[in-house]
Amino acid sequence: MPPSTDPITSRHVAVIGAGASGLVAARELRREGHSVVVFERGDQVGGIWVYTPNVESDPLGLDPTRTTVHCSLYNCLRTNLPREAMGYVDYPFVSKEDPDRDPRRFPGHREVLMYLKDFALEFGIGEMVRFETEVVCVRLVEGSKSKWKVKSKKRGKDDVTLEEIFDAVVVCNGHYTEPRIAEIPGMNAWPGKQIHSHNYRVPEPFRDQVVVLIGSSASAIDISREIAGVAKEVHIAARTVRDGTFGKQHGYDNMWLHPMVESTCKDGTVYFQDGCFVLANVILHCTGYKYHFPFLETDGIVTVDDNRVGPLYKHIFPPVLAPWLSFVGLPWKVLPFPMFELQSKWIAGALSNRFTLPSQEEMMEDVEAIYSSLEASGTPKRYTHCMGASIQSEYNNCLEAHCACTGNEEWRMQMFDAMLKSVLARPESYRDEWEDHHLILQAHEDFIKYTS
Ligand code: FAD
Repeated sequence: MPPSTDPITSRHVAVIGAGASGLVAARELRREGHSVVVFERGDQVGGIWVYTPNVESDPLGLDPTRTTVHCSLYNCLRTNLPREAMGYVDYPFVSKEDPDRDPRRFPGHREVLMYLKDFALEFGIGEMVRFETEVVCVRLVEGSKSKWKVKSKKRGKDDVTLEEIFDAVVVCNGHYTEPRIAEIPGMNAWPGKQIHSHNYRVPEPFRDQVVVLIGSSASAIDISREIAGVAKEVHIAARTVRDGTFGKQHGYDNMWLHPMVESTCKDGTVYFQDGCFVLANVILHCTGYKYHFPFLETDGIVTVDDNRVGPLYKHIFPPVLAPWLSFVGLPWKVLPFPMFELQSKWIAGALSNRFTLPSQEEMMEDVEAIYSSLEASGTPKRYTHCMGASIQSEYNNCLEAHCACTGNEEWRMQMFDAMLKSVLARPESYRDEWEDHHLILQAHEDFIKYTS
C-alpha cells in the first residue's frame, strides 16, 4: 500500500495483556508516538511463561465458574523452538554468561520468562503496565465507530472498577488458557479421572496408573514420555501419525501409540479406532485450546466460530473496525515472538497514519478469498490461523511489505523448518542434537547488529 498522506497522529491505545505479544505491541506503539496503557491481570510480565504449580479447580477446564489459572506450562518444559529463531528480531534471545541463567539452545521455561523480563526492562515497558488489572469489558462508545470504552477491575482489598475511553484497543490476551476437549461417545459415563494438559504440571499423580493421552502436539510428546517414567501404562491416541509408528513405542516397555479413541464405556474401558481397548484410570486431553475473548463486545462483528476468529484481515484487523481494534498473536504453528513484532509494527503504523490499510471492502474480499480457498481444500475452520513454515514465510513477507521493514531472515524460517522435521525424526532428543550448525552461524552473524 502507498504510505498515507494524512498527518502522523498519536493515539491513546489500550493493550490487553503483558505476555510476549503485549510487550512488543506496547514497545512498537510507543516507538510510533502513541500513549499506551497495558492492562495485565497477573502481577508480572511474561504471560504464559510465568510458571505456577497451581492448577484450576476443574482439571478439565470446562466449568465456567472454575478458578482459572493462566499458565499452561509443565514443570519440565523446555522450549520446542531453538532460541536463535524464537527471539524478537531486534532483541536476540542469546545465552547469557550468568550462572543463574539457562544457556541451552532449547532452554527451560524460566529462561524464557527471564528473557521477556529483560526485554521489558530494556525498553521500559513496565511503566506502561497496570498489573493485577483485568479488562472485563471492551465495547465501542455508543454512536462511535472508533472510540472504545474499556472497563477494568483492579484486584485489591476492594476491587476498583474503572471505565476509560481509548482511541484503539490491541488484544494480546493469549490463546493457551481455555481448554478444548475432544468429543468422544460415552465420555459422560466414563468413571475415570479426566484432565486437560492445561492442568498438567508434574508426573507424580499418574504413578502406577493406566493413562490414555489424547493428542500428538509437542506438549503431548513431552508429557507422554514424562508420565511413562512413573505410570503403569501410557496409551497415546493420535489423529495423525507417521505410517508404521502404531504399537509399542521404541525405547519404552509401557507406552503404545494408537489411532484416535472411538468410544468409552462406563466400566472404564477405552476403545480405539483400530479395535484395541484398555481399562484406563485417567484420560489426559492434550487437545489444544480455544480462542476466548470474554471481555470483547462487538455486537457480532467479530466472532469465534469453530475456533476461527473472524472476519480478520491478515489475522489482525476486523475490516469494519480497523485499525481501531486489532489482535496480535492469533496464528499458531509459527515462530511467535518475531511475528508478534511485525504485527505490532503494522498496527502501530496503521494507527498513526504512517501506513494505509486497504478499504473495508478490499479487506473483506481478501478474507472471503481465504475462507473460500480453505473450504475448497477441505480445511476445517479451526485451522484458519494454523500456518507452518511456508504459509508463515509468505505471511511474514506480507507483513514486512505492509510495514516497510525487513527482519524475516531466511535462516530463521529454515531453522523453523529444520526443527519441525527434527521433532518428528527425534522426538526424544531434538533439543540436544541438531544438524543446522550453519544456520546457527548465520543467526549469530545477524545478531551482531543488535548486540554490539
Ligand atoms: P500469553 O503469554 O498467554 O499472555 C497473555 C497475557 O494476557 C497474560 O499475561 C494474561 O494474564 C493477560 N490477560 C489475559 N486476559 C486478560 C484480561 N482480560 N485483562 C488483562 N490481562 C489479561 N512459543 C515459543 O516461541 N516457543 C516455545 O517453545 C513455546 N512453547 C509453548 C509451550 C506451551 C505448553 C504453550 C501453551 C505455548 C508455547 N509457546 C511457545 C507459545 C506461547 O504461547 C507464545 O510464544 C507466547 O508466549 C504467547 O504470548 P501472548 O502474549 O500472545 O500470550
